[in-house]
Amino acid sequence: MSSSPFESVDCVVAGAGVVGLAVARALALSGREVIVVEAAEAIGTETSSRNSEVIHAGIYYPKGSLMARTCVAGRRMLYAYCAEHGVPHRNCGKLIVATDDAEAQRLDEIRERAEANGVEGMRLLSASEARALEPNLHCTAALLSPATGIVDSHGYMLALQGDAESRGAMFAFRSPVERGRTTQDGIELEVGGAEPMKLRCRLLINSAGLHAPALARMIAGMPGDRIPTAYYAKGNYFTLAGRSPFSRLIYPVPVPGGLGVHITVDLGGQAKFGPDVEWIDSIDYTVDPHRADKFYAAVRRYWPDLRDGALQPGYAGIRPKIVPPGAPAQDFTIQGPAQHGIPGLVNLFGIESPGLTASLALAELVREAAGGT
Ligand SMILES: Cc1cc2nc3c(=O)[nH]c(=O)nc-3n(C[C@H](O)[C@H](O)[C@H](O)COP(=O)(O)OP(=O)(O)OC[C@H]3O[C@@H](n4cnc5c(N)ncnc54)[C@H](O)[C@@H]3O)c2cc1C
Repeated sequence: MSSSPFESVDCVVAGAGVVGLAVARALALSGREVIVVEAAEAIGTETSSRNSEVIHAGIYYPKGSLMARTCVAGRRMLYAYCAEHGVPHRNCGKLIVATDDAEAQRLDEIRERAEANGVEGMRLLSASEARALEPNLHCTAALLSPATGIVDSHGYMLALQGDAESRGAMFAFRSPVERGRTTQDGIELEVGGAEPMKLRCRLLINSAGLHAPALARMIAGMPGDRIPTAYYAKGNYFTLAGRSPFSRLIYPVPVPGGLGVHITVDLGGQAKFGPDVEWIDSIDYTVDPHRADKFYAAVRRYWPDLRDGALQPGYAGIRPKIVPPGAPAQDFTIQGPAQHGIPGLVNLFGIESPGLTASLALAELVREAAGGT
């Protein structure tokens, strides 16, 4: 009889955001024993419930990057999954709008990049064609992305959890991983909370979002030089009272470092503006009402009818960056034994947008990466 205080389990997924849930589902569907340990009291309380809920087409990412590949593949999988599981979603489409000639020229480049990534159906529109679709829009030309849509992210996460549970996955809430170490028999984890646990697993998926670098640092034996520094880029949203003036998502031509202030619509028809980019040192979700000032001028370029005072502070999410402000954009990082040398450990770092869209495709990659473990 073993005297070890550690309970043995095949796989532990740390973090029940959309990505951890998709990974737990994929592992459970492939017949593996899975426990999901989540620090919070419920699924998806961090970044996965603080985003735009957009099903991205895969337009802007560098060709061949993980973001481009998993966004395009994940988007197709997500539409099929939502249809099969009755998850509310809408393939509403998106317009990227130019408001002067210089911007209009950029639309062609954007279309070429999107097509190189495998995005279907991109179409350049004249100002009058765009206005026929969206009468409130002011622009000189536009690019239509018919593959873009919106999804009820909480409904999607509940469906993932249900799938995982129906294949035997267990969930432990209020259960933060507090420390770990690598041994010859697997990874030993100490999990805190109201009912502390000691688990030994063959496979640990670190899907802790903003805290993934901190969780990696808790695991004795994990080489420190492989753990990126966490940087936080907050995105603030402002909402508009009443119904949205647009039925599609409206984005300006991207500016260096961001997608510009855009309008998204939720499934209830409410419009929100944002997210902007605010680099912060610690997690703080309050929205400073003064940040609205910058939104008005940006939005009026393509929607001149925006009234003074119409924008109300909404909510904020934080992008889990692993590069500092000003550095070139970082791709998703799936870090397995080949990268850090620890058998049975997969770290997911920098899973910012389009992580919601890409979640099912990311989960497949993680499952394959863990196949031999
Ligand atoms: C402003 C903003 C807008 C976005 N818009 C979109 C969009 O429109 N479309 C899109 O596709 N993507 C979008 N994204 C990206 C998307 O939201 C994320 O990629 C995705 O939610 C990440 O999911 P996750 O599971 O990796 O992380 P999270 O949702 O952050 O989940 C991590 C979980 O780990 C838990 N945890 C942390 N530490 C521990 C620990 N020690 N032990 C146990 N559990 C722990 C946390 O409590 C949390 O529940 C957006 C992101 C932001 C910030």
